[in-house]
Amino acid sequence: MTAQSWRTLRTKKYQFSLRLFLFLNAASALFVLAFPLYETSTLSVPAILIIITGSLLLVWHGKYSDKRISLPFVSLIFGILWAFHITMKYKILEHSDFSFLIISLLSVLFIGSIAFANNIIAFTLHSLPSVFACLWFNGDQHGLRILYLMALPMAGIAIQHVIQKRYDRFAQQLMYKLLEERETLNGLSMLDPLTGLYNRRGLQNKLDTLLVLDNREHYVLLLDIDHFKAYNDHYGHMMGDQALIRVSAAIRDAVRSRDVVTRFGGEEFMVLLTAVDQQQARATAEQIRQKVYDLDIPHMFNQSTATNVTISIGIAPLVGQGIDGAISRADKALYEAKNQGRNNTLVFDELPHT
Ligand code: GH3
Ligand code: MG
Ligand code: MG
Repeated sequence: MTAQSWRTLRTKKYQFSLRLFLFLNAASALFVLAFPLYETSTLSVPAILIIITGSLLLVWHGKYSDKRISLPFVSLIFGILWAFHITMKYKILEHSDFSFLIISLLSVLFIGSIAFANNIIAFTLHSLPSVFACLWFNGDQHGLRILYLMALPMAGIAIQHVIQKRYDRFAQQLMYKLLEERETLNGLSMLDPLTGLYNRRGLQNKLDTLLVLDNREHYVLLLDIDHFKAYNDHYGHMMGDQALIRVSAAIRDAVRSRDVVTRFGGEEFMVLLTAVDQQQARATAEQIRQKVYDLDIPHMFNQSTATNVTISIGIAPLVGQGIDGAISRADKALYEAKNQGRNNTLVFDELPHT
């Protein structure tokens, strides 16, 4: 998103430069026609061409601003037209007049340096034809002066370019830094963005403060949505996400506020029931299962289980401080619950092999 606004800014700069250039050309040509330096009976065809093409391009670009025209190309064309204008006028004058050359050249240089304050190539291409024309007519006398007049704005543009580059680099570094910070903050987040439940980091944080509290009995529930891959495959990932959100809310609603609900993996959840006995743990698990079932989210591909979204739950006691052991036992119970047909709950202690 930030990179995009960066690009938009650059496009805006280009558009502004082009429009300013076209406008200044058309306006200057109009001025030259309206107030010619020396009254001559002939109209300058190149100046008329500059007005017409300048205005047409301006209107066209106003309509299709997303279309790009090459700035160097346009500047070269207009530069050549100005050179033609100077040549033509100069030839009509009865006496060789250096001030006419200088005034004409200055106006061309002004247009270029105003419109292309950042684009030395476009500036050069726009100025060179007129500079050549002036050198051609008066190079032996004032060649150095003519070259100096062009070199001066070029130096200005070059300096401006260097400064701009520095600013750009600084802004870009700032942008990267910001993105990096955002990454870090995201990484530090305790909550799962989709469901708003704790993520694993949040769980760990919660456990650190919770488990030292007391040595009463706690229970771990591992919950997994049944045939959720099939759900995604048939209803699409977006619908899958919506189902996940609703299931998460149902789980959260079914437990007490002091119980910790975590999104453990993709479609797996973990609930830590604090200070409960096995009876209560089993009852809560059953309530969760029922609540999810009652959401009645259609799932025609929940093979032979139901026609709506269901979950299976494995239950295991949290013995001592070993949360990992409890989770792995709950996982075994969950696995068995899946084997036994899904949409059910199973306590680890009641597994056949224990
Ligand atoms: P089982 O009943 O054995 O649990 O079958 P299953 O299809 O649910 O199990 P499996 O682990 O093979 O598939 C889990 C699927 O959950 C895979 C993936 O498409 C989906 N899933 C995981 N995370 C997300 C998520 O964030 N959004 C969505 N829409 N789908 C997810
Ligand atoms: Mg799974
Ligand atoms: Mg599953």
